[in-house]
Amino acid sequence: MEKRVYNFAPGPAVLPLSVIEEVQRDLLCLPGAGASIMEISHRSKTFDRIITGAEANIRKLLGVPDNYRVLFMQGGAFYQFAMVALNLLRGSGKPADYIVTGTWSGKAIKEAKTQGEAKPAWDGKPDNFIRFPKQEELKLSADPAYVYMCSNETIQGVQYQIEPETGAAPLICDSSSDIFCRPVPVEKFGLIFACAQKNAGPSGVTLVIVRDDLLERSSGDLPSLLNYKIVAENKSLLNTPPTFAVYVVKLVTDWLLNEIGGLKKMAEINNRKAKMLYDAIDESEGFYQGHAAKDCRSTMNVPFRMPSEDLQAAFLEQAAARDLCNLQGHRSVGGCRASIYNAMPVEGVELLAQFMREFCKKNK
Ligand code: PMP
Repeated sequence: MEKRVYNFAPGPAVLPLSVIEEVQRDLLCLPGAGASIMEISHRSKTFDRIITGAEANIRKLLGVPDNYRVLFMQGGAFYQFAMVALNLLRGSGKPADYIVTGTWSGKAIKEAKTQGEAKPAWDGKPDNFIRFPKQEELKLSADPAYVYMCSNETIQGVQYQIEPETGAAPLICDSSSDIFCRPVPVEKFGLIFACAQKNAGPSGVTLVIVRDDLLERSSGDLPSLLNYKIVAENKSLLNTPPTFAVYVVKLVTDWLLNEIGGLKKMAEINNRKAKMLYDAIDESEGFYQGHAAKDCRSTMNVPFRMPSEDLQAAFLEQAAARDLCNLQGHRSVGGCRASIYNAMPVEGVELLAQFMREFCKKNK
């Protein structure tokens, strides 16, 4: 077999090795099913156990209250930018307030504008998206349909630390790149969504956690698959769900519960890993320039730059020679970015931090 590298890709991203090994072991024949997970009906007893098991795991990990539904949807997180606006903004007669902290919340407001009045409650663009706003900086409407945020801007590496107060307005959160990285007070949110391909599984499935009362806002004239209420009533089985992806989400959440020991433990590990890289950046005294303001630094995505493009190219090449791979920054911003999701082993981050120190010493 070809050797596996340390994969710092932003998504699809590294998965726990034990999960991939289990998938491999059971790929030809899922125990008790007599066939592969890819070959069985989404209405079979076996798949019912998988999807209800995945939901139970998600509820346990995040402490999801009983008055929230957990949905398994398709179309990725980008699709949810439109779904949120279709269900909660269109026809509401109210504006929606968007906290624009980076590329992904920027794309979300653009999509929402196709369905109604979406206004920036704060826009970090003039500061080049280096931080989250303080509560007093938010310009919230008097009675918005909802307030929207992205908990972790994957490209800018900016992660919120305290969820904003939004009064009676539901808080909607894109948690695509930091779901399951730490405990979250779900009850403070009206809806949380996350594509799976960073911290929860492979691409193809998107998790939506939505409070019951918000389902009542979905207009009956929406097509069924675009209507949260109908998707919830059909327990995400209105049509064929991405069965393989749901299966892997079940295994990843099993891993989080049984091997890691829950999200508090996961957060401790993530904080430790992130500190290793931020320490290497800070100790370099300007050789590495981190993007995010220190109090908004992400534990999941660590973007940084070097004094020249040539040095960056040399860094990426030499890192890859040590099996530290996929460290190039997003095509829209350049630079480097280390994505260190839950499944990135501590050892991989240690090796990267060590390499960063050596490279700095040689090239500073
Ligand atoms: N939101 C965030 C925070 C993301 O990082 C991404 C993907 N990188 C998306 C949304 C879009 O996700 P998808 O490609 O699944 O539509």
